[in-house]
Amino acid sequence: MPELPEVEVVRRGLERWVAGRTVESVEVLHPRAVRRHPGGGADFAARLGGRTIGVPRRRGKYLWLPLEGRDLSVLGHLGMSGQLLVQPADAPDEKHLRIRVRFADDAGTELRFVDQRTFGGLSLHEVAADSADGLPDVIAHIARDPLDPLFDETAYHLALRAKRTTVKRALLDQSLISGVGNIYADEALWRARLHYERPTATLTRPRSAELLGHVRDVMNAALAVGGTSFDSLYVNVNGESGYFDRSLDAYGREDEPCRRCGAPMRRRAWMNRSSYFCPRCQRAPRVSS
Ligand SMILES: [Zn+2]
Repeated sequence: MPELPEVEVVRRGLERWVAGRTVESVEVLHPRAVRRHPGGGADFAARLGGRTIGVPRRRGKYLWLPLEGRDLSVLGHLGMSGQLLVQPADAPDEKHLRIRVRFADDAGTELRFVDQRTFGGLSLHEVAADSADGLPDVIAHIARDPLDPLFDETAYHLALRAKRTTVKRALLDQSLISGVGNIYADEALWRARLHYERPTATLTRPRSAELLGHVRDVMNAALAVGGTSFDSLYVNVNGESGYFDRSLDAYGREDEPCRRCGAPMRRRAWMNRSSYFCPRCQRAPRVSS
């Protein structure tokens, strides 16, 4: 799954290449790619045709294109393998092209949704009440992400203290904080020297503020690495981690030496995924009996 930095790279690309353009026509080539759109493919195409796209927005891993008029937004689900590509109109179709959006201008490019496994897709949704940025109503329950200037840190710390949960679960809880996936959670916990099973109620405010700082640093570092692709016409999501691999300190490093203390890194099964950690730097919490 793409995580926040990858989705932000896509958002920036779309802002550069698609914002302000008016849709001429939409071609839905596979019904699964619009299965989240209540009216189906023909309705999706009819309602998007003629509309002008505003500045693309993101909350966590959720990406949307507000339409001018602020009544509807296009929600993009990238799923496991979804890509939003801006391609020359005369470029050959990708093998797994699912949706094509043609524009009314003469820029010579079109927006393509390509998805090999078709877990992703596009759908049109009403805008949530009192949203200034076209937030689709179906994701109004998703919390702001830590790179959002309006993220409420005080409320986040209070929620952590009040919840009977563990720190990695809390990082992945999209109703508390959005956009932190498995990879970046492991990276931030390693930097903060926190074990993933640490109860959040035991985190002091300075400790949780430090953790939040590490989450932001990890995400910003990933964005900086991905930043070189913004100039390219090719807007791409590269699946899990992709070109951010080289900056990872914890995730995927089982048996490799901890970059801080040299102890072999460990991997444990965790909620159908894996947690990577240093057994020396990130001590397991004592189990109270
Ligand atoms: Zn270590």
